[in-house]
Amino acid sequence: MATAEPEGSVVVPAPAAEGRQYLVYEGPRSDISYPLKVLYCGECSMPLEYCEYYPNYEKCKKWLETNLPDHFERLKADGEDGETGDAEKKRQKRGGKGQVKAKKKAEPQGVNLGYMKRGKKRSTVITVLSTYEIDLKEASRFFSQKFSCGSSVISEDEISIQGDKRDDLFDILCEKWPQIDEDDIDDIGEVKK
Ligand SMILES: [Zn+2]
Repeated sequence: MATAEPEGSVVVPAPAAEGRQYLVYEGPRSDISYPLKVLYCGECSMPLEYCEYYPNYEKCKKWLETNLPDHFERLKADGEDGETGDAEKKRQKRGGKGQVKAKKKAEPQGVNLGYMKRGKKRSTVITVLSTYEIDLKEASRFFSQKFSCGSSVISEDEISIQGDKRDDLFDILCEKWPQIDEDDIDDIGEVKK
């Protein structure tokens, strides 16, 4: 049952709040003229300073450009010198609900070189991430010519080559596909299937 606070009771702050910093209201500031004029965005309906948290910020900017060109110019100027400065920091700190983060584009994760054993024979397994935009069929043909042996595409991102060719592949991969950095190639040892 919820009880109303008895009159005259002392409100004790929750323990979690101890030691935390709160904004203290110190009255009107001399550097600001009152009443404060709040400008609202016609696109997202929020005060202008919240526009950057709106998922469709680009639309807000368009609206600003047409309706409040002065503000738009100031915004542009802020953006140019402050992207990694205060604005950026604020954005990272605030977080929380209502904020829709732009999805980060997946970065290439690299190339894995492993080998598989079948009896005494080994084969090399190259796992190439699709982000490298390498045509695996073409790559497999290239390997079979280069090593004069069999090579085939075994899954949507894997090529197998007869024999253990891992050592040679470090150089060959980077030479043939400049988008692959040698540091992105990992030797993952034996692959068990
Ligand atoms: Zn807006």
